[in-house]
Amino acid sequence: MKTIGLIGGMSWESTITYYQLINEGVKDALGGLHSAKILLYSVDFFEVEALMSSGEWDKAADLLGGVAARLESAGADMILICTNTLHKVAPQVQARIRVPLVHIAEAAAERLLEQGVTRVGLLGTKYTMTQEFYRDKLVERGIEVLIPEGDDIDLVNRVIFEELCLGVVKEESRAEYLRVIESLQQRGAQGILLGCTELGLIVSDKDVTLPLFDTTEIHAKKALSLALEA
Ligand code: GLU
Repeated sequence: MKTIGLIGGMSWESTITYYQLINEGVKDALGGLHSAKILLYSVDFFEVEALMSSGEWDKAADLLGGVAARLESAGADMILICTNTLHKVAPQVQARIRVPLVHIAEAAAERLLEQGVTRVGLLGTKYTMTQEFYRDKLVERGIEVLIPEGDDIDLVNRVIFEELCLGVVKEESRAEYLRVIESLQQRGAQGILLGCTELGLIVSDKDVTLPLFDTTEIHAKKALSLALEA
């Protein structure tokens, strides 16, 4: 079994899910007392969010690149950035290590195509929904990307940073998310990509008729299959 290096803490609410899913996957695959080989470096999200909101992406790249290099020297065979948004600096992080960076949007695109989804509604932070670093990974694989319109971009973004990353799940926010999903469905989305690692906390399959694609689960399972492959 290979060792999975996780850069977590963005937020720690979703890092817990990564840790749990990867360990459950190893247990299912290998049985008995088997558990995953994981190196976790959990950052202080306060520091990272400050760099994101002030647009200091080079500093964020430097911080995460340094963490990735430390995980590699500690023995990680692959690295995961446990958030969609910070994949904006994935190329700079990959440049600091020799082991593969398992890209969350590439894994998501692979899963969408396996399920025959070529027009997807994307929910995530405003960076993930509106910037090219994420969308391009889907578009270049032939997937059309729909995002919320107008004020709904801010709404979806605000709930992530002001509620979900703090572990707060409000019923009124869930209702707003379901309204946004409904409108993406009416615009032709065949599925919804939960392109933020905390979104599984607020919407689940029982709430919607469209298939949901949860990037936390997809990313964790991708790492799991790489860790277990011969
Ligand atoms: N975890 C979230 C994501 O997947 C948002 C928080 C962050 O910006 O890291 O994008």
